[in-house]
Amino acid sequence: MKNDKNGISRRTFFKTAGTAGLGAALSPMLGNTDAQAASPAQAADVASVPTRTFGRSGINVPILSLGGMFDIPSNQTLLKQAIRWGVTYWDTAHTYTGGRSEEGIGQYFSRYPEHRQKIFLVTKSTQREPKGLSRELETSLKRMQTDHVDLFFVHAIRNIKVMDNAIRDWAKAQKAAGKIRLMGFSTHANMDDCLQGAARLDWIDGIMLTYNFRLMHEARMIAAVKACVDAGIGLTAMKTQGGGGVKTDSARELELAGRFIQKGFTDKQAKLKAVWENPQISSLCSQMPTMSILMANVAAAVDRTSLTENDHRHLHRYASETFSCYCAGCTQICENAISAKVPVGDVMRYLMYARCYGDTHDARDYFASIPAAVRRRLTHVDYREAEARCPRNLPIAQLMNEAVEELA
Ligand code: SF4
Repeated sequence: MKNDKNGISRRTFFKTAGTAGLGAALSPMLGNTDAQAASPAQAADVASVPTRTFGRSGINVPILSLGGMFDIPSNQTLLKQAIRWGVTYWDTAHTYTGGRSEEGIGQYFSRYPEHRQKIFLVTKSTQREPKGLSRELETSLKRMQTDHVDLFFVHAIRNIKVMDNAIRDWAKAQKAAGKIRLMGFSTHANMDDCLQGAARLDWIDGIMLTYNFRLMHEARMIAAVKACVDAGIGLTAMKTQGGGGVKTDSARELELAGRFIQKGFTDKQAKLKAVWENPQISSLCSQMPTMSILMANVAAAVDRTSLTENDHRHLHRYASETFSCYCAGCTQICENAISAKVPVGDVMRYLMYARCYGDTHDARDYFASIPAAVRRRLTHVDYREAEARCPRNLPIAQLMNEAVEELA
């Protein structure tokens, strides 16, 4: 992968961008239909997504990575186009779409085996001990028709204690066997503590964390990111749109969108740019289930235009005004204030999948994976103390009730 920062000129973009945002500049590459991938000659006219080094590994990865939580078997053309635009970091998980995500990647590699070496391939397991991790890694490799993954994550940890010596030794053995190149974890909860803990270990190569314009300016997050970068850990941002389980279709949100449209961006592209402007983040993972979303994100990645001070001020103001609409994943605060065991942070995230991503099907599947006894207790727990301690003043009881109504 190249390490230079090529870019489409601002003039080229704005010639065609209009109200569709930066993505319109790439639309000629797609012909008249989303299903039609650009020819290599056409794609060569468009600069590839820039790359950054992934921590101490020294591996260059594209700053935009393809999140695989969608029906990949029926979206094979999208994978091919992603490669043509340099989106060669693919992220999946053992659990995504019930295994179809990994199977779809396997179908692609079976058809284009020569493309495997171009891809920085990441998968994850929710298992927490070596036997389970081995079982799921073997299944993932088989599904994806490959003999190794480039980065393997223990998925969705909430506490660094999960990454114990047994997992360290397991990772070392898998590396020696050539089944994984790098090891790490993903986290949506208590991210700053998890990152600080990882920086004190000497065997974590990479972390995927919730990181966006809402969280990136918080002092604890700034310190945690720096600690990881100093320790040589590569960082991938996810949940970069900063969407929450609370609906935020306010006049202020529309005003923000209007502001960026006038500049030729969408507000979504502006939120990606805000994250990319921190060079400590190696890559940004985005769910891109359609060619138009892939195109819009690639366009934002290759465009050299920086956000202005004023743009940042508007994003910051929007974040402040919708502060109480976003669950920041600080689950050690609310969940420790509840007498019964309730995964408040997970339920908030599933609501976000349904309400912000429109991914109700997967949100319901995830919700159904919560043990039945825990689901039953969601609407009966006393959340008053948790609400009192929540730094974002979220109406936790109300949101748990809404989650049961919408996702059960
Ligand atoms: S509900 Fe409040 S305390 Fe709990 S994780 Fe979300 S923001 Fe943090």
